[in-house]
Amino acid sequence: MNPLSLPVLRLIGDGRLHSGETIARQLGVSRGTVWNALRDVNALGVTVHRVPGRGYQLVEPIHWLDAREVGQQLARAGVPLEVQVLDCVASTNTELLARAAQGASHGLVLAAEVQTAGRGRAGRPWYAVLGGSLTFSLLWRFDHGVGALGGLSLAVGLATARALEALGARGIELKWPNDLMHRGRKLAGILVEVQGDALGPTATVIGIGLNIRVPTELAVRAGQPVADLASIMDGRPDRNRLLAAILIELNSALERFAQEGFAPRRAEWDAMHAYRDRPVRVVLPDGRAWEGVACGVGENGELILDTVHGRYRFSAGEVSLRPAVEAGGGR
Ligand code: ATP
Repeated sequence: MNPLSLPVLRLIGDGRLHSGETIARQLGVSRGTVWNALRDVNALGVTVHRVPGRGYQLVEPIHWLDAREVGQQLARAGVPLEVQVLDCVASTNTELLARAAQGASHGLVLAAEVQTAGRGRAGRPWYAVLGGSLTFSLLWRFDHGVGALGGLSLAVGLATARALEALGARGIELKWPNDLMHRGRKLAGILVEVQGDALGPTATVIGIGLNIRVPTELAVRAGQPVADLASIMDGRPDRNRLLAAILIELNSALERFAQEGFAPRRAEWDAMHAYRDRPVRVVLPDGRAWEGVACGVGENGELILDTVHGRYRFSAGEVSLRPAVEAGGGR
């Protein structure tokens, strides 16, 4: 990404017409440099109109993330998380894992305007658009060892869904183990990565990518149906308010998880399970698939599958869940 793209977009982010000359003057560069900085910004998911002789105009204004604003909302709720906003990073999870290894504090949150290499599970890509997505990671340190963290990504999904519901989003479902869905379309993905060992302590980096308002082409890149919040709640949600609301809910869910684990949340999670009592395929990393009926989750968040050969339990690992109708649906 051109290093001047974001500074220029910040100057024209209000959606009004700005002359190239004014932008150039404000940044101390030439008009040609401004043109260059805006040349490829459609790759970020934004559209800038060039009005000959008059300047540049962003089609959709951008409501930028503001660490102070989010921090104030967290402070009002008595939630001691520290939020930092990065303009551009490869992946907030990768960056936070590196900082965790260097001793970053429990409760640090990194949110990014742009991720150049956003990740889902097993190195799968996560796509976002500037101003229309929320991508952030939270560092949570547990005293427990890795073995006590079963169901963590499910607890995170549930807390995120609850926060969105409280803001007016309806019809959210959870897809085991780590996605938020709306009518079969993916609304958000969660990636939990853990540093530590069997005896603990552990540092978990909890990454969330959420679609707020994304163009239809994103579904083409994602290779699967995509939902966004703007279509399932009134108005376009404010990203800072959204980030604060999710973090407040996550903070209390993680405090509870540290005390009680996933088991007490099991029934609540099951009630939102997108494929509950439905025929599914569970696809293993080597491509083998198990068919059966998804009949709930266990105390450690494992998927319980009823098959013709009996009942099986799958822990999240790299296993993927697919509706049974999607023939050959393994990736
Ligand atoms: P699966 O979807 O196979 O069950 P998963 O839930 O583990 O796997 P993730 O790793 O969470 O998937 O997310 C990565 C996948 O999500 C990508 O392979 C892509 O298909 C899809 N994807 C990427 N960006 C988006 C997005 N913004 N919205 C919805 N889906 C996306």
